[in-house]
Amino acid sequence: METRYMEYANLLKQKELKSTPQRVAMLGILDRKGHADIDYIYNEIKKDFVSISLATVYKNVNTMLGAGIIQEIKVPNQKSKYEITKHKHSHFVCEKCGEVYDIDVPKKLDVELPEGFEPKEASVMIMGVCPSCK
Ligand SMILES: [Zn+2]
Ligand SMILES: [Zn+2]
Repeated sequence: METRYMEYANLLKQKELKSTPQRVAMLGILDRKGHADIDYIYNEIKKDFVSISLATVYKNVNTMLGAGIIQEIKVPNQKSKYEITKHKHSHFVCEKCGEVYDIDVPKKLDVELPEGFEPKEASVMIMGVCPSCK
């Protein structure tokens, strides 16, 4: 736990953000959960910071998004989820429980593009049902 704490603090410092206990706690929540929406982060962080407001959580999320420490996953028909930025990957979204899973999709997709379009990278979101909801 201690080492993790230092990792989050360093991550913030690398991006020239102040390492506040709230930000460190938020990174810890995201690290444990993988992908979490704002309500989840808010409910979890309130356990340690009882008087924190939703606005403060939003503000910190936006600051860390801007610095690239975390990234936003826009999920259809759901609130956006956030995760700590890591290697490029795609997502599988469970339509039943709303859980988001990391998946790897081959770099080269077999897609026919119209003449003149030059693909650089692709990001895929697969909707379906996860093993625990099946
Ligand atoms: Zn599910
Ligand atoms: Zn992810």
